Amino acid sequence: MLSSTPFDGLCVGEGEQVFVQLLAHLELSKPLNEIPGLIIRDSPLCEYSPQRKEVNISSFSWPDRYFLRSLTKEERKKYECSMLGSRGCIHACSFCLSDKFERCTPGITWRGRDVIEIIDEMQYIHKKYGVNNFVFQDPLWTGPRSKKNKNRILDFAEELVRRNLNVHFYVQARIDFFDIESDGYLLKKLCKAGLSSIFLGIENACPETLKRYNKNINPNEIIDQINFLRFYNVFIHIGFIMLHPFVTIEELRDNMKFLRKIGFAHLPHVVCSKLMIYKETDIWRQALDAELLISSEVDGFCEYSYLDESSANAAKKIEKLIDELGTLSCEIDLLETQLWHRNFEYRKLSLELKKKISHLMCKAWDGILRSSTSAEISALLKQNISKVLNETKAKICRINNEKMTVCN
Ligand code: SF4
Repeated sequence: MLSSTPFDGLCVGEGEQVFVQLLAHLELSKPLNEIPGLIIRDSPLCEYSPQRKEVNISSFSWPDRYFLRSLTKEERKKYECSMLGSRGCIHACSFCLSDKFERCTPGITWRGRDVIEIIDEMQYIHKKYGVNNFVFQDPLWTGPRSKKNKNRILDFAEELVRRNLNVHFYVQARIDFFDIESDGYLLKKLCKAGLSSIFLGIENACPETLKRYNKNINPNEIIDQINFLRFYNVFIHIGFIMLHPFVTIEELRDNMKFLRKIGFAHLPHVVCSKLMIYKETDIWRQALDAELLISSEVDGFCEYSYLDESSANAAKKIEKLIDELGTLSCEIDLLETQLWHRNFEYRKLSLELKKKISHLMCKAWDGILRSSTSAEISALLKQNISKVLNETKAKICRINNEKMTVCN
């Protein structure tokens, strides 16, 4: 692998320990091939030994937030600061490389940072830079579903409330983490601590495809979990993969119905999402075995064709649609999120916006599956969505003006 790159070495797994050892070895002119986790160009592979995963990730120093220094006070208030509360993932979704990456190095797969230490870092950033919003980038912020991990995040929530920081945070979790019967208290505490939204990788609603993606969930569980989170006013973002090599027209139809039912059919980037196939993933192997891969790798992803001809035609139109609607999709998402996080009056507008665009998207979807041309559909859809967005913005202005009048 290294022979086709300009690099002299490659770190397999996490880099912190390896990098420190690399510098020490270079300083003392010691042989580099004795560093665990480092593969050296021209060294025989048998000399390579894997590093063990660092269990105590709380011992690492905090990143220097030099970028924040370049922002104004006002910009920092709105800025969403990235954080990591853990590393690793124990799951093995068939389209994801996480599992392969984790297996490169022996040791415990999911490791959570000490919650006090995470909050110390948040407090430091909040006090020093005036940042109020934090985005946890870890794929499994909650950790695997267990009593121990539930207690861990309860401790996190309680400590954040105790310190009265008044910050907001966004996390990513598995849809099956919370127990609907018994985790209401935990969720309430997280919301009180500032949990503003949560990302859930739902990915599909077709049982067969959920199995193919190795998600270990079923559509009814998805609905129950979404209702549970919404009951506690948690704003939800979802990951969804509509197009994949084995998709059928029936599945496209059922998935759209499902998205409408759970309130996500208004987001073009969710509705028109397409699977990106990484080499060596399990889904890559399935597509390879079905002879559906059409190029080895472009920008890290493999291109593929579709098993079913009618789905291939629909997929072409869906891909064009998202090319056309990409910017509008961001606008819908942003407006909906902003409105939802304000008071009841604005939240009503957010729901209205969702309902209207959802209706337009479903009509366009029917057209695509009934074989209208994508140019006709996207032009009309763009026009109608823009109209709804403008109407909503006009209503926001009206509410804002009324509020100003009342204040004056
Ligand atoms: S849960 Fe997320 S990070 Fe873990 S394997 Fe699935 S997609 Fe990858």
